[in-house]
Amino acid sequence: MIAAHSAAHYSNQKISILVIDRNPPILLGRKSINGWVCGDAVSKEAVDYMGSHIKVSWGAPEIEHKVKGVMALSPDRETSIPFDGDGFLLNRQQLPQTQYKEALKRGINVDFEVNLTGLIYDGNQVVGVEGTDKKTNQPYKKTAKVVIDATGVTSMLRNQIKNTTKMERRIDRTDLESTGRHIMYFDQGEDDLSEFDPDYCLIHLDQDIAPGGYGWVFPKGKNKVNIGLGVEKTILDKRNKRLGKHDDVTGLINQYVARNRAIKNPRISTDPSDVNNATGNFQVSVRRQNDCMVANGFMLVGDSAWMPKPLDAGGIGPALIAGSIIGKNAVDAIESGDVTEKGLWQYNVDYTREYGYKTAGLEVFRRLLQMLTNDQINYGMKHFLGNMDVEAISKGEHPDFSMVGKMGMLIRGALNKKLADGLRYTTQQNRWLTEHYRNYPTTPDGFEEWNKKLLKIMHESYEHLAKWDN
Ligand SMILES: Cc1cc2nc3c(=O)[nH]c(=O)nc-3n(C[C@H](O)[C@H](O)[C@H](O)COP(=O)(O)OP(=O)(O)OC[C@H]3O[C@@H](n4cnc5c(N)ncnc54)[C@H](O)[C@@H]3O)c2cc1C
Repeated sequence: MIAAHSAAHYSNQKISILVIDRNPPILLGRKSINGWVCGDAVSKEAVDYMGSHIKVSWGAPEIEHKVKGVMALSPDRETSIPFDGDGFLLNRQQLPQTQYKEALKRGINVDFEVNLTGLIYDGNQVVGVEGTDKKTNQPYKKTAKVVIDATGVTSMLRNQIKNTTKMERRIDRTDLESTGRHIMYFDQGEDDLSEFDPDYCLIHLDQDIAPGGYGWVFPKGKNKVNIGLGVEKTILDKRNKRLGKHDDVTGLINQYVARNRAIKNPRISTDPSDVNNATGNFQVSVRRQNDCMVANGFMLVGDSAWMPKPLDAGGIGPALIAGSIIGKNAVDAIESGDVTEKGLWQYNVDYTREYGYKTAGLEVFRRLLQMLTNDQINYGMKHFLGNMDVEAISKGEHPDFSMVGKMGMLIRGALNKKLADGLRYTTQQNRWLTEHYRNYPTTPDGFEEWNKKLLKIMHESYEHLAKWDN
């Protein structure tokens, strides 16, 4: 929807734009039968980016609640680190309805209840999409100069793309988080801001509660909450073995809700605006975006391009930025008469410059964090994170840990010394990676060599980091 709004904006509504979704109008944008499964949090900065670039603004009812920032808590709860910056809790079910109204104003057409199964090619050029019209059970085909794939992390279009060797089709299993959440009302229990804070999105780091991920308590009102957690499956298996348990994601979420002392008598929201969306699980990727996001006649945006930030799986912000950018790139290519990979290439360049340059470094950092013990997280949050690092993380940047453990800093315990080495290592890799992304090739010709170097460093980093596995 944002990509469509953007294309309408940059073409002054002179091109014909069609949005296709598999849902009926009242369920527009629903990820799966489980709902619009999300933590619902987005920074004001990202929403403002969309506002200033493509003149789309959001308000009530899609913005349900406002917060002042995110608070990360250590497993022992001794350290809480505020990442300040205004943010919004969205109502994901309402949002597409507002977006649909805006689409109609911008002359955008929408086809509902169409299940897309693949792309149509003319030789090596994507020239449309095909699938089934669920209203009639008839085959569905549409041709277009450019197809923008925004069908989310499970994209069938990207999975099967045939006309490119540059775009990655599939993801490593360990780059996916299994996540879920409930949207709930509750009675106020103990007054404890480390369990529920109406002004802050709380993040609980704990390798027993949410192995390889984190738990979250995001306020949607004074007594309404989006509460859930994400795990990485192989790390969950190890945790289950270590503790002699057989927990799955849903079980962990329910334990997480039950142990929250501030949340008493929790019940799933029955608000009409949460109907079909109050409980459910889905997946989210936590790696760098696809190394190449264009092919002849074809572009990726949002989760289908693996855009969520590797550190926290926040995907709405990058999708707002990329969605705002992609319309201009698509329109420029159409207007210049070149919708090949080369004509669409500028999108790779623009997104990398705006946001994508930092994600590979954060992917390496995330891999280190996932391997830490609770004791290491406690120690690291207490002793290694300075104000500058917190500021860097708030901006989505990799913190500079190059001085951790140097200049006479006394570190207690071998595991914490090892952690300090790990943090310095990810800082060093991040420097190289951000510099490498600054040199993202400006045309497809330079991609192969650039990508080879990127993959070499990424694989070296993964192998090196295996030493930190506890
Ligand atoms: C549990 C959880 C918590 C999260 N919390 C946060 C958070 O707090 N903040 C944040 O920023 N991000 C969060 N994320 C990530 C965020 O939800 C996504 O980044 C965001 O929804 C991506 O939007 P999208 O439009 O790219 O894809 P989606 O929201 O997945 O939308 C894809 C659309 O394409 C449609 N579609 C898919 N396949 C087809 C097909 N074959 N034919 C036709 N239509 C199709 C779908 O029905 C849907 O309408 C979370 C994710 C999860 C799973």
